[in-house]
Amino acid sequence: MNIQETDREYVAGTYARFPVTITAGKGSLVTDIDGKDYIDLTSGIAVNSFGVCDDVWYKAVCEQAAKIQHMSNLFYTEPCAKLAKMLCERTGMSKVFFSNSGAEANECAVKVARKYAADTKGPDYHTIITLKNSFHGRTIAMLSATGQDKFHESFRPLTPGFVHAEANNLEYMKVLADAHKTAAIMIECVQGEGGVVALDEEYVKGVAKIASDNGIILIVDEVQTGNGRTGHLYSYMNYGINPDIVSTAKGLAGGLPLGATMLSEKVKDTLKPGDHGSTFGGNPVACAAGVSILERIDDKLMAGVREKSKFLFETFTGAPGIVSVSGMGLMMGLKTTKPAKDVVNACISEGVLCLTAKDRIRLLPALNIPDDLLHKAAEVIKKCCA
Ligand SMILES: *Cc1c(COP(=O)(O)O)cnc(C)c1O
Repeated sequence: MNIQETDREYVAGTYARFPVTITAGKGSLVTDIDGKDYIDLTSGIAVNSFGVCDDVWYKAVCEQAAKIQHMSNLFYTEPCAKLAKMLCERTGMSKVFFSNSGAEANECAVKVARKYAADTKGPDYHTIITLKNSFHGRTIAMLSATGQDKFHESFRPLTPGFVHAEANNLEYMKVLADAHKTAAIMIECVQGEGGVVALDEEYVKGVAKIASDNGIILIVDEVQTGNGRTGHLYSYMNYGINPDIVSTAKGLAGGLPLGATMLSEKVKDTLKPGDHGSTFGGNPVACAAGVSILERIDDKLMAGVREKSKFLFETFTGAPGIVSVSGMGLMMGLKTTKPAKDVVNACISEGVLCLTAKDRIRLLPALNIPDDLLHKAAEVIKKCCA
């Protein structure tokens, strides 16, 4: 079977795939079907937190799969309870709802915020303010939340109740929050799909203040930025704010589908039995993987992420063909003089996998990528940008 031909014929054509078929890997190296090795700076879009087939992760997954792979959420299982407790203890949040993806984690966040607003202020307080250039997922509601028109084309009518504010413009946020009966403001501290753009600290603090002054729920979408990616467990921790709700997914289970919506004390009991649910959410294997990932996101690892980040910023800033460097931690965007897509294709030919986000090159290496591989990959990128 020719995999690429078969895929193109039978798999819905929603992805502009690179012409590479990956068959295996270890850590930050992956191998294609022809036996060519690549240094992976994508981590499956910030999913494989410790790279491919990491030993600790693999053991946690296999041990749980050998016990029980799934139970209905109508019964208790250990990994789900254990991971929820860990997440709360590490963040100061009070309860967690588990799902399977980022979009679902955000859907839950919006449901909680709307119900909380309905309970406390009345059912017409339902507007959710998100930011222009944001990305919150692909369900119809999360498309509506996403502040980029290119995702909206062909899928109207969108879900009503979402409005978009200009990022880093606090006045505008204030005006919108006053003009609408607002349930929640939802932000990404670093806009990932929007080109790896970190919001200004003053702005994020200001948004948190507008939310708390007006009884508006603050949701931080940590789907891409979470779980150590920015050099702290969650990106909001870089900004010194306390969100009411935090959603996460991608890197949480290190390569298995798992979404989590973390609820602060204020909203922890807003959802009652029957208000929300998920068949697969909180799956024992995914949660056991999550426990093994979270256990390893410690101060030492985070210091390493910040070191590697510093290296990348220093290497790329001012390099020939690189116009600017953006992002935080191991979530980095490069604006290049050549089209980003061309640079990424050149890098792939040279054995380095990276991504694009809008008009930038996007780098999302594993949190524990060995320095020698990172240095080697950075040289290739620099060469391809020049
Ligand atoms: C990837 C992403 C999502 C969507 O996650 P899925 O798991 O694809 O549903 C939502 N928000 C942000 C910030 C993301 O990066």
